[in-house]
Amino acid sequence: MISSVACALQGEACALSLSQVTISTAKMPKEKIQDQFTDLPVSRQRKYQLRMKRDSRCTDCGQPAIQGSRCLKHLVKSRERQRKKRGLKRRYHGTLSYRLEDQKKVKGKTAR
Ligand SMILES: [Zn+2]
Repeated sequence: MISSVACALQGEACALSLSQVTISTAKMPKEKIQDQFTDLPVSRQRKYQLRMKRDSRCTDCGQPAIQGSRCLKHLVKSRERQRKKRGLKRRYHGTLSYRLEDQKKVKGKTAR
């Protein structure tokens, strides 16, 4: 009994979010984006990444990237992911993501 009620509620929630999705996609351009990446034989995600890189925005979330191809949050994320994957022990503190992190910390302290 209880589970069926929960399902019905979930269904309602799904219907709500679906209608919201259709509203938001209605504003999207119907035609393909025409640029230098349109005809490349790569996935849509890769094209998105290339476009983000071209506009110097984060290839993961599309926010403006300070330097490099990702925002600070995703620079750190990818750095830690690679460390784990490659089993690295050292930390290279001259690296862009560390320097940007330090800058951010210093800024936070001076703002106080
Ligand atoms: Zn990002």
